Amino acid sequence: MKIAIIGSGAYGSYIANLLAEKHPTSEIHIYEVGDSSLKNENQIGYLSHILNAPYNALSKGRFFGYGGASVKWGGQLLTFSHNDFKNPSRFLYDIVELNEKYKNTVFSKFNLSNIGEEEHLTEQLFTKTGIWLSYFNRNLFKYFRIENEKRVTLFSNSRVTKLLLKDKLITGFEYIHKGDLKKAVGYDYYFLAAGAFEGGRILLNSQLTTNDYLSFSDHLSQKAFKIKSGTKMGKTDFSFDVKGASLITKRMIGEIDSTSFFAHPIFNSEFPFFQNLKKFMFGRHFSIQLIAEIIKDIPACIAFAWSMFIKKKLYVYKNEWYLQIDIENPIDSGKMSLSEDKDLFGENGLNIDLTVGKYTDELFVKAKEIVKEYLDKNQVEYEVVNEATNVEKYEDTYHPFGIYSDFTSIEDYFTKFSNMLITNTGVLPRAGGINSTCAVFPLIEEYVENYMK
Ligand SMILES: Cc1cc2nc3c(=O)[nH]c(=O)nc-3n(C[C@H](O)[C@H](O)[C@H](O)COP(=O)(O)OP(=O)(O)OC[C@H]3O[C@@H](n4cnc5c(N)ncnc54)[C@H](O)[C@@H]3O)c2cc1C
Repeated sequence: MKIAIIGSGAYGSYIANLLAEKHPTSEIHIYEVGDSSLKNENQIGYLSHILNAPYNALSKGRFFGYGGASVKWGGQLLTFSHNDFKNPSRFLYDIVELNEKYKNTVFSKFNLSNIGEEEHLTEQLFTKTGIWLSYFNRNLFKYFRIENEKRVTLFSNSRVTKLLLKDKLITGFEYIHKGDLKKAVGYDYYFLAAGAFEGGRILLNSQLTTNDYLSFSDHLSQKAFKIKSGTKMGKTDFSFDVKGASLITKRMIGEIDSTSFFAHPIFNSEFPFFQNLKKFMFGRHFSIQLIAEIIKDIPACIAFAWSMFIKKKLYVYKNEWYLQIDIENPIDSGKMSLSEDKDLFGENGLNIDLTVGKYTDELFVKAKEIVKEYLDKNQVEYEVVNEATNVEKYEDTYHPFGIYSDFTSIEDYFTKFSNMLITNTGVLPRAGGINSTCAVFPLIEEYVENYMK
């Protein structure tokens, strides 16, 4: 069997690894716009115009080359459960079912299991545990050793621009290599894994969308509370455990009018030791005061290491931390379409239009109230933080969803094309209360297991 994967990022790498295991006699070809040196949007030569709300994720959160954004991502893995959505559509329900079915299979690929059950805190809130992969296991292209996989052939510096289609069958695609337009045909299966926005751009360019635009949305963030009475709230401890070289994280999730929100701990954002050390080592900033500050923080640093290696808990500087609330911006608040302007490849760029409406601010107020009630009920000491709604913190809020997600069921998604699967977070109709990358891995597992002949 001959299989083409477009993109070698989080999904491209996961797919290549899975196919090599499940179809050991297959030939797997990966077409990748970049190569081993990671590039940002400008450096690779892509173009996007951001209209309305600043959405830095697009220009600063996309990375091109082997590993894609997974070279720089946080690597926090979470999956959906039936607690996440009160009234899911049939498609979303099916996604949750597959998340439950394959959760352990996915985590076992990272040598992790048993990360803890979800727990109801109140009528409106439940907890979810996640895994923060160790720093060295986050680049999935390296982690799965794709370069050394003998069934895989890499076509680097090859930018796929257009899919070729006959009825529901993908017959091939066009790509640009060193300025030349080429055609690749004759594969049995195709996986479009070029990222949520570039995947969308390819679908628009191939006229495979109902309209000449695609909707999208993302999470929005606000730092909401500064907690001053430690990490335990009621019976639940929100500190992060150390497991191997990974961290087990905890957050609380709720839903208002079919919009999810989550409150998650931000620890050590005010721990000066690391910031000062960075200034000293990389910023070439040198002053007696800076050295004095570094020395002053050495005891906290020793406590950090003690906590991490002996107590197996993430240290919390001064026992104070923040709860940040993220909510789903409603699904139709973003639109992407092809721009008139051409990028460095001579291809149309993207117009990106994201609106943060009044309704979103009202949701933040409601979500904050629900979390505040929980804090008060558990006699937590806190300060309310009033931060503006933020889409600029792309490190926390790059979870695009609702781009190509208009499916009636999982069957409809798997069979939209007879021989191609679209894999990016944009196929999820909701991002719920999670960093959503891991929620698509189970869909890939099911497709490879039950839909490839
Ligand atoms: C700073 C940061 C932190 C994040 N932290 C988390 C987190 O903790 N947890 C989480 O779940 N998510 C997180 N995310 C989101 C996560 O990184 C993405 O959801 C994930 O990388 C998406 O995988 P992908 O394969 O769709 O895209 P990518 O990983 O970006 O891969 C796409 C690949 O396709 C290639 N490509 C692009 N265009 C073409 C083309 N036309 N032809 C051929 N190849 C092409 C690219 O070079 C790239 O290699 C974070 C994102 C950022 C920016």
